Amino acid sequence: MFYFDDFYGKKVLKSSLLADVDCFFTTRDFVLTSASRTDLEFDANGNRKFLIEKFGLKNIYTAKQTHSSNVKIIKSEKYFYDDTDALISDVNNSLLLLNFADCVPIILYSKKDNIGAVVHAGWRGTALKILKKTALKMSTELNVKLDNITALIGPSIGKCCFETDEDVFNKIVEDKSLKKYYEEKGHKYYIDLKLLNYSQLEEIGIKNIDICSYCTCCMSDIFFSYRKENGITARHSAVLRIKGI
Ligand SMILES: [Zn+2]
Repeated sequence: MFYFDDFYGKKVLKSSLLADVDCFFTTRDFVLTSASRTDLEFDANGNRKFLIEKFGLKNIYTAKQTHSSNVKIIKSEKYFYDDTDALISDVNNSLLLLNFADCVPIILYSKKDNIGAVVHAGWRGTALKILKKTALKMSTELNVKLDNITALIGPSIGKCCFETDEDVFNKIVEDKSLKKYYEEKGHKYYIDLKLLNYSQLEEIGIKNIDICSYCTCCMSDIFFSYRKENGITARHSAVLRIKGI
């Protein structure tokens, strides 16, 4: 279950599945990346500093997101990753952050191993199965048992608002007979990106999954929405801190 919580006076969204882990999705109240909204740059810079200070860290591990399926395991001395849409960490006390405005944010974490990941899956990333790829990489390269992974599928554009034409639809939905992933109205398709990502995890045996019902486009008073705000918007973030030992 998702619930709004308070991070030192700023509104964030958490899940009861990882309530005791330092991970959350930020809101408009706690902007960490201003993107195309230059008026928010000052707030974003201040908030990043605030976040780093509150966690007692030196910096944040983040990436230049490109809607790719490139997944990187971070190295402690390297804070920025080019052309990357998922970051995995087994580094104690590291803080991972990626940015979103309608795309699906996912946090993966194994408490047993203290290894986690943050994933950015828009429609391209969903079609490329970046989420499944990330979980499998945690398993094959860092020996995390898939059973031990908890997944939080955060707020993103919902089926209610993610309208596409047939060309995009054909790239995302592989099996047209599975009507639970979409609705067809006239010549338009309404696709459930969160459910498609959920299925990628189910396929590989991950069962501990929380899926957020909020649509960022319907709830653009709380989250940033690229579609609702015609591309002129900032970003909310998915944040995960790997525990320090
Ligand atoms: Zn909606």
